[in-house]
Amino acid sequence: MERKIELHESHPRYLSLLAREKLVTGFKRGLVASEGLIAHGRGECFDYLIGECTIESAKAAVNAASATLLLARYPVISINGNVTALCVDQVCQLNRSLENSAVEINLFYYTKERERLISEEFKKYGLLKIFGIDPKNLVSIPELESNRRFVDRNGISKADVVFVPLEDGDRTIALKRMNKKVITVDLNPLSRTALSSDITIVDNIVRVIPQLIECIKYHKKHSSENDLKELIEGFDNMDGLKKALEVMKSKQVPIQ
Ligand code: ATP
Ligand code: MG
Repeated sequence: MERKIELHESHPRYLSLLAREKLVTGFKRGLVASEGLIAHGRGECFDYLIGECTIESAKAAVNAASATLLLARYPVISINGNVTALCVDQVCQLNRSLENSAVEINLFYYTKERERLISEEFKKYGLLKIFGIDPKNLVSIPELESNRRFVDRNGISKADVVFVPLEDGDRTIALKRMNKKVITVDLNPLSRTALSSDITIVDNIVRVIPQLIECIKYHKKHSSENDLKELIEGFDNMDGLKKALEVMKSKQVPIQ
């Protein structure tokens, strides 16, 4: 029997419940892998520890990420099932705001059907060209065993900057070996992805993408190329990860 739960904005966990609902709906529609639901749960745990809000170090990372994306020759946004279920619309907006970027699909738990459904979902939100689906254009990343060893020769393979939110560590490390500049969104500051990326935004993707779009808009209007370069040079990823962990460690049981 179809379960019907009404979500009320007044519920203290409204946004968290809404994200779960989006993922479950995405799972039922075949966009999200069952393992993706578990990965989201791991993220939720860290989100709880940062107070389910954007912490200062994440704001600095968003700023550096927007500068890096704006200075990139060819930035590529890598998407998966969870990213699609949670923020397909915002990812399409981000892609439009960059002008010279592309979107590539990359599934850890690959099926042809899921790939088709995800690319159709992106089409609905106005993205006409999505990379990573034409087998003729796939080339393999050296020394990577998993399904995700393939990248598109006209997408990630050609990119100088790759934005890989909610990524697996093996692939992030492989992308680094290919000399890509890697930006990620990962709520776990200790994951291999978080530790091996150039810029790690320790925050929930649903809060990150709208802030990235805003930040890009701001820099387009107000910042010179030199301003952006300085901003990137002043950014220290390890320092950001340490600060995120400090926030998590500082949480106390409220005194009644
Ligand atoms: P790694 O492979 O990098 O060591 P992992 O194996 O622990 O990490 P994966 O399942 O490969 O984890 O990647 C999923 C990552 O995405 C997790 O670190 C999880 O915390 C994070 N994550 C899940 N949902 C979200 C979300 N909504 N926003 C940001 N991060 C998320
Ligand atoms: Mg992993």
